Amino acid sequence: MPKPLWAPWRLEYIQTADEQEGCVFCNAVESDDDEAALVVHRGRHAIVLVNRFPYSSGHVMVAPSRHAAEFGELNDEEALELHRLADRGMGALSQIYEPQGYNLGWNLGRIAGAGVVDHVHLHVVPRWAGDTNFMPVLADVKVIPEHLAETRRRLAEAWPT
Ligand SMILES: [Zn+2]
Repeated sequence: MPKPLWAPWRLEYIQTADEQEGCVFCNAVESDDDEAALVVHRGRHAIVLVNRFPYSSGHVMVAPSRHAAEFGELNDEEALELHRLADRGMGALSQIYEPQGYNLGWNLGRIAGAGVVDHVHLHVVPRWAGDTNFMPVLADVKVIPEHLAETRRRLAEAWPT
């Protein structure tokens, strides 16, 4: 049996997500500052950004540029591009972090772990053997901001063309 991902800071995030201003994905789409918004790549119908509350190092999310709440609301172009961008994201992640595997997933609804419930997004989470052991170290709030900016920069540079 694989060990469940244990990321205690995620719980704190999910509990406070409703208090945050605006939609993190729409804010990123509208932002002209990729570094501040942690945007790795902008596609035609979707964007890729680094998760501020990661399950693991290199955790990115792919979201439609349009504020779509329902998984089934995605049109064909969006659905295709989300999958293709997830694949290219894995390409960039593999170059930089050399993970041994990935979890790709949709958290639909608060009970399923979604911090943002009204803008669907696909999680791309790199995995390494034993990663549940070191992940709590990443919860150090003093370390995370630098870590995320660096992750964004490296992924943007490694993005497959
Ligand atoms: Zn949105």
